[in-house]
Amino acid sequence: MNDLYQKTIVDHARRPRNFGQLAGANRSAQGVNPLCGDEITVHLSASDRIEAVSFEGAGCAVCLASASLMTLAVSGLSPAEAGRLVQRVRELVAGGDGANLGDLQALQGVSPFPARQKCALLAWRALEAALAGEAAAVSTEL
Ligand code: ZN
Repeated sequence: MNDLYQKTIVDHARRPRNFGQLAGANRSAQGVNPLCGDEITVHLSASDRIEAVSFEGAGCAVCLASASLMTLAVSGLSPAEAGRLVQRVRELVAGGDGANLGDLQALQGVSPFPARQKCALLAWRALEAALAGEAAAVSTEL
């Protein structure tokens, strides 16, 4: 575990940004990771752009930190841009290149740990589901 990973994950897990309900949300999706017990819901206010995003729920430090980082990273993006970012984060969490991803690069720290990769991706998968308008909860085990 490198320093960036430690500092960023601990900071965001202790003080998650954009945590709670979202007034004016027009899309939501739940994500569950039964292996770890993570359960979060992502709320969006989105049309051409993601105007606001929040999340609520409970999870481990990696899950909460990743969700917190996600809310900061996707605010203001178009749905297509957000979709591309989700793909980059998938690659990053699997050990890929994190160039120009800022604090999100910390998520690369989970790459040696497949179980933790699921925790890190949960919020991003829920974001994708919310953008797609999927009503059912997404699960890391389906
Ligand atoms: Zn977890």
